[in-house]
Amino acid sequence: EVAHELPLLQNLNPEQKAAVTLPNEHALILAGAGSGKTRVLTTRIAWLLSTGQISPGGVLAVTFTNKAAKEMMTRLGAMLPVNVRGMWIGTFHGLCNRFLRAHYKLANLPQSFQILDTQDQLSAIKRLMKQFNVDEERFPAKQTQWFISGNKEEGLRPNMVEVRSDEDRKKVEIYQLYEDQCNREGVVDFGELMLRSYELLRDNDPIREHYQRRFRHILVDEFQDTNKLQYAWLKMLAGPESSVLAVGDDDQSIYAFRGARVGNMADFVREFEVKHQIKLEQNYRSFSNILDSANELIAHNKTRLGKNLRTDQGPGEPVRVYEAPTDLAEAQWMVEEMRHLVRGDGPEGSMERKEIAVLYRSNAQSRVIETALFNAAVPYRVYGGLRFFERAEIKNALAYLRVLENPNDDTSFLRVVNFPPRGIGARSIEQLQDAARVAGCSLHDAVSATTGKAGANIGAFVAKIDVLRERTAGLTLREIIEQVLQESGLVDHYKAEREGADRVENLEELVNAAESFVTQEGFGRDAVALPIDEHGTMLRQSPASQGLDPSLPEVILRHAQDDRTAPDYVPPDAETGETLSPLAAFLTHAALESGDNQAQAGQDAVQLMTVHSAKGLEFDCVFITGLEEGLFPSERSMTEYEGLEEERRLMYVAITRARKRLYLSYSQTRLLHGQTRYNVKSRFFDELPEGALKWLTPKNQNFGGSAFGYGSGYPSTRTSNYSRDTTPSFANPAVPVQKAAPAHGLRAGMKVFHTKFGEGTVLSIEGLGDDARAQVNFPRHGIKWLALSVAKLTPVT
Ligand code: ATP
Ligand code: MG
Repeated sequence: EVAHELPLLQNLNPEQKAAVTLPNEHALILAGAGSGKTRVLTTRIAWLLSTGQISPGGVLAVTFTNKAAKEMMTRLGAMLPVNVRGMWIGTFHGLCNRFLRAHYKLANLPQSFQILDTQDQLSAIKRLMKQFNVDEERFPAKQTQWFISGNKEEGLRPNMVEVRSDEDRKKVEIYQLYEDQCNREGVVDFGELMLRSYELLRDNDPIREHYQRRFRHILVDEFQDTNKLQYAWLKMLAGPESSVLAVGDDDQSIYAFRGARVGNMADFVREFEVKHQIKLEQNYRSFSNILDSANELIAHNKTRLGKNLRTDQGPGEPVRVYEAPTDLAEAQWMVEEMRHLVRGDGPEGSMERKEIAVLYRSNAQSRVIETALFNAAVPYRVYGGLRFFERAEIKNALAYLRVLENPNDDTSFLRVVNFPPRGIGARSIEQLQDAARVAGCSLHDAVSATTGKAGANIGAFVAKIDVLRERTAGLTLREIIEQVLQESGLVDHYKAEREGADRVENLEELVNAAESFVTQEGFGRDAVALPIDEHGTMLRQSPASQGLDPSLPEVILRHAQDDRTAPDYVPPDAETGETLSPLAAFLTHAALESGDNQAQAGQDAVQLMTVHSAKGLEFDCVFITGLEEGLFPSERSMTEYEGLEEERRLMYVAITRARKRLYLSYSQTRLLHGQTRYNVKSRFFDELPEGALKWLTPKNQNFGGSAFGYGSGYPSTRTSNYSRDTTPSFANPAVPVQKAAPAHGLRAGMKVFHTKFGEGTVLSIEGLGDDARAQVNFPRHGIKWLALSVAKLTPVT
């Protein structure tokens, strides 16, 4: 009973409290956005720990992003004096990495195995296909990549994939070759992390039983987006004594395109015989204008489990809608609006920049927004997109470090063998690859087989690497990286480049990243002392004096002494005592971490990200941009089965990120992928409650300027009017409404008639003047691309 009155339960409503204090049995919390699912999950861990029901080592919690994992650890650390870094809290990939590091031998991996990110994976596949003369026209590398990853996510090894055609057979063959290559090089891709740890748990009884006994509590956030393999992995880990708490929201399932299965929720309830299903219906995040918009929108989806969501907060500000003539004008308006928000011109008072988020459907949209922010000197940060560790100059530096760590890493070898350029041509590299194939060895080892001038150049490169390896032995991680940056010639190369200053700065940032990795990431939050001994070996010390309160439950105290493990802790090899080198540990960190925190860390900056990466987050103010047919909802979604419902869920996620203020905007024209698109506003506008909206620009104006005079409102049927709400907006919508549409007068979303194909719907329009073409979906003839200067398309009203 006392346990129910702990301070950490005080700020919970009755349903939340019930969920936090559930008995140790399987449970599902199915609830809408902002209802406190994540808060319940975190508080439950804290409650289990502080009531002494479990030790920190007995908890496994899966979050969706590294950022979320960190946040959870920070919150737990604030609630309880435990060494949170020792706890198994992380993403599926992060946890699997940790597991495989601990059992690399059983998993048949080298101790310092490295991780291929998606880019690396694609280039490895390309290289392999070239080597084996696979026709890239017939088997595009990207598709092959999807094939391989898709099968791994289904838990299928090459020999398990069903073969129905010659094409299939070829693809499976490539899959097998790819696996052989990865094994030879000692690298694993993201899917492999998952699949291999699943297989190890499945096939090794003592290991499985050990972890099943250990993890008494398994908690999974964002459960609606787990895929088949992740679910199977969870099932392996859950033992007879474990309780699994899954929390999720079917309306926020946005990864079906990558194999996520909402059906896992129903399977979970059935297969685990779930005893407790809890609903949370109170939203604590948003004002009701925002929440009503989200609720009304998502009600248009047919496949829903059905939930309610209400808020006690008042209506708040109306949701503001803005129509721009061009994407640049849209961005400029946004910047202007932000200026007012930060200055505090609105009723909310001054807002911090980091509380303002700009969300978009596709990464390509960020460029124009970045330009506008940059020109206005507004600090901003882009999440996702090209992450710090994915930038070319960083990848190059990491590739040097990787060949240093593992000479057999051919992918990295090829990346830098002629970078900075040292006169090694494609022919010589092919020669080297042939020699390696014949000898069945790595490129590094095949060097002695090459001859002539080319051979000498490659030989010099390899010699340089080997010398560097020797010379950096015994140095600290920081010194190793500094040497490599200099000796590789990378810094000099970028210094000589016209626009290389940024890149040089990023390379310097890499040194800082390594430094902070050593001092913080690896050693518990409080530890700063002597991370590396004189031999360059990492010293693993839990913060010596944690100043623990002796009145804490015994399990916590015991754990604080026992658990010296950081999330990336790798036990030394039982026979040789060998441990992971700091360099190898850092490289793993670089592959798994987005590195979002490197650039402009600590600065108060506007946040830019795709809707997908905004999941689980919240901001005072959110701009959702590019709300245009064909963009959001995306073009592909309109022709795919249930594609539109997923887009609507995505929009639901976007709207529900906002606490106080929400802006929706779209543009009549947009330059995207080198093409000018003429847009019609997203159908989602017609699915929002009119009363919650405030149009900053005239609604449904005739911006089409068409010769046919149908601009009066497809797809909306509402009449044109200014908003009833007369609250002045910050920015004067003075941007002139330009005549943007071309003479053909067609727009995406319109119904048209074609003499041969009959009636169809315009999906998109590209190009200008005589080059203009339309993509039209004809129910009876499929999707066609039509040149508008030739095809006769008449609008149907
Ligand atoms: P999402 O579906 O978007 O992931 P969620 O259900 O996980 O949302 P949380 O992020 O846990 O929701 O909570 C949303 C916000 O509401 C947070 O700021 C949280 O601190 C706050 N909150 C949750 N429960 C309460 C409560 N009982 N009292 C006050 N604030 C609360
Ligand atoms: Mg959440």
